[in-house]
Formats: sequence, C-alpha cells, structure tokens
Amino acid sequence: MDIKKLVKKEVSSLKAYNAKEIPCRIKLDANESPYGFADVVKRIAGVRTNRYPDPEARALRQLIAKDLGIMPENILFGNGSDELIYYLITTFGGPVSFPVPTFSMYGIIGQALGEKKIEIPLDKDFDLDIDRFLAALRKEKPKLIFLSSPNNPTGNCFSTDRILKITEALRGIVIVDEAYQPFSSGAGLLPLLKDYPNLVIMRTLSKIGLAALRLGFMIAVPEIIEEVNKVRLPFNLNSFSQTVAIEALKEKKELKESIKIVVSERERLFEEMENITGITPFPSEANFILFSADDPDFVYSALLKKGILVRNVKDAVKGCLRVTVGTPQENTAFIKALKKIVR
Ligand code: PMP
Repeated sequence: MDIKKLVKKEVSSLKAYNAKEIPCRIKLDANESPYGFADVVKRIAGVRTNRYPDPEARALRQLIAKDLGIMPENILFGNGSDELIYYLITTFGGPVSFPVPTFSMYGIIGQALGEKKIEIPLDKDFDLDIDRFLAALRKEKPKLIFLSSPNNPTGNCFSTDRILKITEALRGIVIVDEAYQPFSSGAGLLPLLKDYPNLVIMRTLSKIGLAALRLGFMIAVPEIIEEVNKVRLPFNLNSFSQTVAIEALKEKKELKESIKIVVSERERLFEEMENITGITPFPSEANFILFSADDPDFVYSALLKKGILVRNVKDAVKGCLRVTVGTPQENTAFIKALKKIVR
C-alpha cells in the first residue's frame, strides 16, 4: 500500500517544521531569554526554562523504543494521545470510522476537522461487528478507523482476528488505541505491527500515573510517522514532561507494582459488584469497570452525595455507569456505598 497516496494533498506537499538543534556556543537564533530559573528548577528536576524543549524528545524516545523493542523512528509523541488523534485526522482526512460506544474524542475531533464520521455499533458482546464494518468499508471507504482496545467505556478488548480482518480490508489506516493495554492480560497488537504497514498503535502514559504530563505516543512505520510529523506542533512536549517521564519510566518496579495492584483490585471490585443485587458489572481488561444499574441517575447522584464521583455513561451504554479502579481503601468505600444505595 502506498501510504503517501492516502495523505491529503495539502499535507503531502508540506515540509515538517525544521527544529533541529544546532550545536553552538552563543545561541541567539530563536528569541529565547539567556536567563532562566535554573536554581529554582534544579530543586525540582534540573530543567532549563529559558530554552525550548527538545522538539524530538530524543532521550524519552530512546528509552521507550528500548523498552518496547522498536526503533526510535517508529515513535511519534503527542501532548496526550488526544493530540495524536487530531494529528492523524489532520494528516489523512476522513471519512473517520469507529465503533460505538467508544472514546468520544475520535468523533469530536473528526467533526471539528470537518470530516465525515461513520459510526458502527458494537455487537451484543461489545465486540466489533465485522460484517457491518466490512460493508461500511466497501460503501464509505473510510481513511481512518479508530479502535480503542481495551475499549472505553466497555472495558473489553476486541478480537484480534476481527481487527486484523478490518486492517487487511481497509485501504486506509487502522489506529488501535491501546491506552489501557498495561491492564490487559493480552499483549496487544504491537507484536503484529511489522506485518501490517497500515496499522498504528497508540499508547499513553496518562493511565499509569502520569496524566498530568500529557504524554501519548503512536507507533507505526516511518512513512506514517514522517507524514504525521509534518502537522505536529514543533515543541508539543514541554521539558518538564519529558524529564519527569524519563525519570518515572526508569522506576520499572514501582510502575509494575502499581499496575499489578490496580488489576487485582479490579478483579476484587468485579466480584464484589457481581454480588450486589441490581448491579451487573461487565468484565474488564482496563482500569475501570462498566456496570449497569436499574436507575443509573439515582445511583450516580446517591454516590456523589456520599462524595464518590463515578461516570454516568447511560447516554453511551443504556443503563450504565463507569467506575475507575482506585486505591484499595477507595474501592472498599465505593462498594460499601453502592451496597447501601441499591438496597
Ligand atoms: N484513548 C482512550 C481510549 C482514552 O480513554 C483516553 C483518555 N480518557 C485517551 C485516549 C486520552 O489519553 P491522553 O491523556 O493521552 O490524551
């Protein structure tokens, strides 16, 4: 497949902003101040404030590439994966397709950029409805398909064979948004990337304790990375985020341990919720659980009255709410409150 032919004319003819760092002794080329707040910032992370951040986030790129066993050229960073959704749609245009219910930003950004949206309802098991997808591919010829797996808000992973069938049939790009992959029992689609040049994997640090950094990344063949890089804002990752992410990602034991606790707490929460009459939780591979209740509005408000904020997703999934896995203490308080409310 010729990726270049898929790119919008306006983007294909662009040149990426040239923000290469050129070694020098006295830097007077970019309207920066020569004075920073080095002493103040040193106490936090040793980050310089007077210079622009590394536009290519090289140190972070190397670290993540090594961790994932890929090449740095396969990675593009976004100020959160939200920004990458923006960049992908800006680069390739629409129509943009995705299953529903799913993460709302695919639809919001697609619409903001004036692209046609093709929404395909999930089947009764919250898996991809392959027949409807293949029919829509033939009829509507989407350029981009966004698949959140594990899916937000349903919590399940889509079947790999269905994702691959769609990827093979599409003359466009399939983005598998693996924001919640760290909590899943599966390996995700990264090992299959080399066989599918029109496949993009999207990940984020937001779900593993670093949401404040706004740091997402996509993994794809260099042809895709180079095209999307043309629409990326030159300094989209600030220096603090880059530095903190590097230090945090080095703490492998701590990261692994926190994910392990969330997964085991998710299982405990699920079992407890299954035993509450009037509540039906759905199995989850993510750090949240979708559950149905007889009266979702009442459950939502009653929980909030007790100070517990969950997400009412009844507009996306009939009769349902979504709860994020918290600390063991928070989860226990949630279960206790939920039991009282539905009684
Ligand atoms: N993808 C999915 C499926 C999500 O649920 C979210 C966050 N709610 C995001 C992407 C956005 O992540 P980020 O913080 O990296 O923008």
